[in-house]
Amino acid sequence: MTKSHIRKDYFKDEYVIIAPNRAKRPHRVGTIDETTATCHFCPQNFKNETITFQDNNYNGDWEVISVVNKFAALTVDNPDAYGQTEVIVETRRHGLDINDFSVEHIVRIFNAYVDRFNYLRNMDGIKHVIIFKNEGGKAGASISHSHSQIFALPILPPKTEKEAKDYNKYRLEHITCPYCDIIKKESGKERVIWEDEHLFVLAPYASMDPYGVWLIPKKHTRTIADLTRPEKESIGIALKMVLGKLDEFGISYNYLIENAVNNEDYHMHIKVSPRPNIWAGLELGTGIIINPIAPEYAARIYRGEVKIEEDPKF
Ligand SMILES: [Zn+2]
Ligand SMILES: [Zn+2]
Repeated sequence: MTKSHIRKDYFKDEYVIIAPNRAKRPHRVGTIDETTATCHFCPQNFKNETITFQDNNYNGDWEVISVVNKFAALTVDNPDAYGQTEVIVETRRHGLDINDFSVEHIVRIFNAYVDRFNYLRNMDGIKHVIIFKNEGGKAGASISHSHSQIFALPILPPKTEKEAKDYNKYRLEHITCPYCDIIKKESGKERVIWEDEHLFVLAPYASMDPYGVWLIPKKHTRTIADLTRPEKESIGIALKMVLGKLDEFGISYNYLIENAVNNEDYHMHIKVSPRPNIWAGLELGTGIIINPIAPEYAARIYRGEVKIEEDPKF
């Protein structure tokens, strides 16, 4: 597919111009070289951290840990910027990426997310909790020690509110859930990257992000707290596959875990937004994005059917 065309999201009034012929070859993005001597997340540099969660290894040392972010914009003692932000340090070893971990280790990271999510969403004055990860310089991370962040916010972020509204509108009109319908609609199609009995992984039809990926549990599940252990294992397998491929090409990324707002209905999922070093993501000032990587092509790359360097279309 080389001709540009406009696509509309599955159920939202969001448009993207898929413009594959505008893409340039991505090249490896330089990583940030932070040493273990100065890294805030290396165990030997921990000083007076407020630890909120700790999962130890067989030696009795922490392996996955959550700490209150000392440099946070939001704190519980500031009424003008109330909230809490925590950093989940995903390993005690410096320089690893999430795709280097075992599936079991990724499950432990998700258990840490769930523990903090459940605590923070019940804090007084908190309207929403977001869980996300930035990996690599281009995506805004400032430290090369694998970590995620959790923000407990005193407001509902506008994008989350819009997503919830669009979700509810679709549910009213169709009775069914849009994400359950996406799984049905996309099953067997060329945009499917991987699936098993628990998880559906696809390059979404109107992806706003080059190489964008959605991980959707097959069971209608409201929040990360409702995921079963086998579902978390499937997420671990899929993240290793998808993030491993991005790592191979030196593409940095964000992922965001989208959960239900309060007690409302929703179908939780994980959105991976890569940040390749190509001309991409041009927002036209109209809310329309240009994505130079066709999702069908991205799916082939994740499935290992094509190597970026070898593809003549680039
Ligand atoms: Zn470190
Ligand atoms: Zn659903």
